[in-house]
Formats: sequence, C-alpha cells, structure tokens
Amino acid sequence: MEIKLYNTLSKTKEVFKPLKDGEVSMYNCGPTVYDFAHIGNLRAYVFADTLRRALEINDFRVHQIINITDVGHLVSEGDDGEDKMTKALKRENKPLTLEAMNEVATKYFGAFVNDLESLNIELPEKFPRASEHIQEDIELVTLLYKKGFAYKISDGMYFDTSKFPNYGKLGKSTDDKSTNGIMNELGSKDISRIAPNSEKMDAKDFCLWKFDTKLGWDSPWGKGFPGWHIECSAMSRKYLGQPFDIHTGGIDHIGVHHNNEIAQSEACYDQPLARFWMHNEFITMNNRKMSKSSGGFITLNSLKNESISPIGYKYWLLTAHYRSPITFSMEAVLGAQNALIRLMTSVSQYKGQNDNGSAITSYFERFMNFINDDLDTPQALALVWELIKDTKHTDANKLATLLQFDRVLGLGLAEVPKIDPGAELEALPDEIAALVFAREDARKEKDWKKSDALRIEIETRGYKILDEAKGFKVVKT
Ligand code: AMP
Ligand code: ZN
Repeated sequence: MEIKLYNTLSKTKEVFKPLKDGEVSMYNCGPTVYDFAHIGNLRAYVFADTLRRALEINDFRVHQIINITDVGHLVSEGDDGEDKMTKALKRENKPLTLEAMNEVATKYFGAFVNDLESLNIELPEKFPRASEHIQEDIELVTLLYKKGFAYKISDGMYFDTSKFPNYGKLGKSTDDKSTNGIMNELGSKDISRIAPNSEKMDAKDFCLWKFDTKLGWDSPWGKGFPGWHIECSAMSRKYLGQPFDIHTGGIDHIGVHHNNEIAQSEACYDQPLARFWMHNEFITMNNRKMSKSSGGFITLNSLKNESISPIGYKYWLLTAHYRSPITFSMEAVLGAQNALIRLMTSVSQYKGQNDNGSAITSYFERFMNFINDDLDTPQALALVWELIKDTKHTDANKLATLLQFDRVLGLGLAEVPKIDPGAELEALPDEIAALVFAREDARKEKDWKKSDALRIEIETRGYKILDEAKGFKVVKT
C-alpha cells in the first residue's frame, strides 16, 4: 500500500519510499534536557511515535534516533543569549562544571524517558547525547573550515552562509499562515531580526563552535562548546548515515535549526542530509506557541493533578492532524479524556465477551487509507467511533479491529482490563467509568493508597468494584 507523507522540502505530499527496501532511518530532533518537558514539546514525540507506528504497520523496520541536547542550545534559536544548560545550573544552585551539567542533564533525561513511557511511546534504538559526541562535532567543523565554509571571529567559529547557495531551502518557520504571529523565545518574529553579532559577516551565519574559557572542551580553535546545530548533523550521520530517510521536529525548527543542519551536512559531504523533512505544528495557548516564556509550562504531571492521564492527553493530540495547530485548554483535554474512557469501556466490555475475533477487512482498509494519507489521525479516530456504533459486527471482531488500529494509535487498548459483561456498563455514568480506569492506572503503578481512595470514592457514589481472577466487575449497589 502506498504511504503519502508531507515533505516540508517540496511543500507537497509525496509517496514515501525508503532508501533501503523494508527499512526506514528516522531522526527526531530531541529535547534540551535543562528542565521537564512541557506538553508542547511532547507533541513532537507523540507525532514521531505515530509516524514510526504507521511505518511499522506497513511492514517497515524503523531505525529511530532521538538525540538528547545536553550542551550548546542557547536560549534563542540564533546565537545569542545564555546556554540553556548553564541557566539550569544557576537555577539549581550547582557549580558551573561539566560534571554538574551532566548531573542536571541526566535527571531531566530520565524524566523525559518516563514521560515517553507513560505516553505509551516506543523508545528509539538510541538516545545519543550531544556531550558524548564532541569529537564528531570537531571533525565536522574541521572539514567545513578546510573546505572554506567556516570562519573564526572573537567568540567562536561560524558557518559562512554566502558560500552555500542553497541556504534556507526548507523555508522559514513563519512561512506557514497558521504560524504567522507566533513569536520565538526572544519575542522576535523572524530570525533575521535578531541583532547580529557585529563581527558576523551575515546575520544568517551561525555558530559552529562557541568559545568559553570557563566551561567546555578543548578544540583546535580554542576551548568551548559546540553550536547547537552541529550535534544533529554529527549524530544523525553517525547513527543513520547520510542521506537518511526522515528527519522530524516542531515547525519552529524549520527556519533556523533545520536549514542550518542542511547547510553544514551538505556543505561537508556533498550529499543531501535527509530525504523527507516532517514537522509538527504547535500546541498554542493565548495565540502563542506553548513555551516556558509564554507562561504556559504545563507538564504531564500538572495534567495528572487535574485528573488527566497521559493517554487522555495523547487522545486529545490525535484528534488534531499533526500539521494543524491545536489550542490547549483543560476543558478540551478533559473532553478528549471522556471520549477515551468511553472507548476503553467499550473495549473492556468486548473483552469480557469473547476475544477470539478477527479484524474486519473493510474497516482495517479504511483505517490504513487514513493513516497512509499523511497520518490522518482525526479521521482514524472518527472511524473508531463508527465501528463501535456499527451493530452489524460481533464484539469479538470489533475488538480485534480496534486492537489493530491501536498498533498505530498507541492508546494501550491491549492493556485495558476486561470487565464482566454482566456489569451493566452501558449505564455506567462517565464519571464512574473515569474513576474505574483511574483506579486501574493507580494499580498498574502500584499506588495502592490512591487505588484504595478511588475505590472508596466509587463506593460513595453508589457503585462497587468486584475484583475477579481475570479483570473485574462494576455493579450498582
Ligand atoms: P526543545 O527542547 O526546545 O528543542 O524542543 C523539543 C521539541 O518540541 C522540538 O521538536 C520543538 O519544535 C517542539 N516544540 C516546542 N514547543 C512546542 C509547542 N508548543 N508545540 C509543539 N511542539 C513544540
Ligand atoms: Zn536537531
């Protein structure tokens, strides 16, 4: 079956064919581990995971890399401002040393992996860390310098964009109408408006190696640390080769980070870096990109405090196409979670009946058509509901079909507990079903205190959970 994916490079949906038969190499720009990830950041990895699952259901073996930026990312997308990791060291009252930086990075990297796991995201083959690839960065900059693409000024080594005629071929981050008016972290709309370093030959030239006499690594040009973009050129080539198939990130990466990655890698090795460039749109809040500086620092934990599970948030994301912006509000995510609970309730009941069904071909084909059309998850979710309401099929076959869909949607439906069919669940009010599944989540996490509290809450509302050998039953008392 043909898969079409939107390629930012050609600005069209293209039929996807990997370089190597049956295998796909994919690089997802990873997080800067200077703080917890906010749910805007996590959209990038839910999107990458959905893409990976879509490729896998099409029988591709996916080699996936997510890098971990633990050095070199300045607070602006350009070359100004403080290094984000240094900022974290100050915030956490740690000494300005590489060891302390490593400690902070390891802590937030761990939190990131926990977030991915609670979102039922399949982990990549590798999470290479920028600080462990300094030699590879130095080799790249050395080659660029030898080939005449780099120059040195007082604060570092810079890429000379005038030597790379195709510079900027991905376009600007703000090209897309939907992102007009969305500011970057400096509050600037366009990278060219960022005050240029006075010694830079052109505002678009970017840092390859930043000098720092206090913190960093030795290099042929002076002590310091790599520029943010160089790590992705070095690590993607090391683990996936050049060119590789798919490169992803949020749309804010298009204008600067990805154009810079392309310039460095292609100038160095005279080969394209990646064939498909794919970008997810933002989660917005108050008409701006959700970000730390816009005051919207919502994490999976803050959602949990509002009784929203990570999978409830994931369901909400899937209701929008990855190339559409989505506006955050607690009500919208709660609404999506309620839909998820109804879906889980149906799955539980189907499981309680019989689980020896087989997937319904007509539904599965339609599902694959939606997914293979540039990951149309909103249509795929609409199909889930069409199937649940369809009375022509047996519960066993519906269950088998939903479990196939879930190979891409990744909502963890295979783990939904079985509910005894005699439990009159049709009549179970939403809030009781929500409490029942929240109790299941607490039990999975072995949080017995929370699961007991939820059981009591359910009982005070006139229902009782009867645990059985396989699954459980909810009855009205
Ligand atoms: P960073 O840690 O800043 O490099 O960001 C990690 C990923 O999150 C990148 O792919 C960003 O493009 C993406 N990202 C950041 N903010 C948002 C947002 N509000 N909505 C969607 N993606 C975002
Ligand atoms: Zn990158």
